[in-house]
Amino acid sequence: MSWESNVRRVVPYVAGEQPQNKNVIKLNTNENPYPPAPGVEQALRGIDCDILRKYPDPEVSGLVCALAKRHGLSKEQVFVGVGSDDVLSMSFLTFFNSQKPILFPDITYSFYDVWADLYKIPYECQPLDGQFCIRKEDYLKENGGIVIANPNAPTGVFMEVSQLEEIIRANPGSVVIVDEAYIDFGGESCVPLIEKYENLLVTQTFSKSRSMAGMRIGYAMGSEKLIGYLNDVKFSFNSYTMNDAAIIAGIASVENEEYFKAVTGKVIRTRENTKKRLAELGFTFPDSKTNFIFASHAYVPAEEIFDVLRENEIYVRHWNKPRIENYLRISIGTDEEMDAVLDFLERYLKNKKAVKH
Ligand SMILES: *Cc1c(COP(=O)(O)O)cnc(C)c1O
Repeated sequence: MSWESNVRRVVPYVAGEQPQNKNVIKLNTNENPYPPAPGVEQALRGIDCDILRKYPDPEVSGLVCALAKRHGLSKEQVFVGVGSDDVLSMSFLTFFNSQKPILFPDITYSFYDVWADLYKIPYECQPLDGQFCIRKEDYLKENGGIVIANPNAPTGVFMEVSQLEEIIRANPGSVVIVDEAYIDFGGESCVPLIEKYENLLVTQTFSKSRSMAGMRIGYAMGSEKLIGYLNDVKFSFNSYTMNDAAIIAGIASVENEEYFKAVTGKVIRTRENTKKRLAELGFTFPDSKTNFIFASHAYVPAEEIFDVLRENEIYVRHWNKPRIENYLRISIGTDEEMDAVLDFLERYLKNKKAVKH
């Protein structure tokens, strides 16, 4: 027998490409095109490197308190981690420990099935309807837990909080995780439901709306009990997940609320303009409440558009998966970036038409 038969084998999640070429218009990983709040740079410049001798605060109290204050929660209701991927993965490990399958949509964040496989959690995907909407009824059956991205990714579709509340209320026997990675771009958060439902865990991230994907900060909010269990697992795994620079930068970002509102507002405006122009060019897409648009063209295959964009140093995301192989996920960049992409598409599609006729 080989040692290899004892290996925990997984097929890893594939993240969007991070090209080294600076000329690329990068619309493939839903990063924010604007810099982090000015206070973040100031805070980082002010770091005295001597603090690095010591371990960071294992409770991450400073950042936890700043986030608790911003969301109107107590510090016992907030947990922070190294991006929401870390927080979500830790939450899967903590809360999904049943023989019954956990439930999530067939088209959603493609890390969920990877974590389920990694931790050997049984799961059952629930198909989105023809409009890429989550069907509430699919989540009212027996399960070992539920995870729903709201708005969903990569579709951008937002599910009404009242619908989610029905799912949460119908499942007192399992933890319902709502992944709100994109909530700051126009959706309504489930956070107010935390006071009502002990089994609700909401995760958010600094990676998209706070322009800090490189810093790796994410957090979860939930009942004191849930957060307590999450901390027990974290402290059984790695007590010091958050480094000092991330903690300091994170606090500075949360304290710059006005900048945060201005930047998310700008992204939303650009998204709405992009929707108009994409529609004029013959694209269809579910209505997006995120910083990306999931679009399909009337007569040009997504893969062809993906390739030609890429040859022209414009990166978007495409998945060769059933139901979504004819869609492109286009992140919202600056107005200038979107104009460049849309102008290019306009020229390309016009030439195609000319060749066709
Ligand atoms: C981006 C994203 C995350 C993870 O973000 P982090 O950078 O790890 O905070 C989680 N869920 C969804 C749906 C995402 O799109």
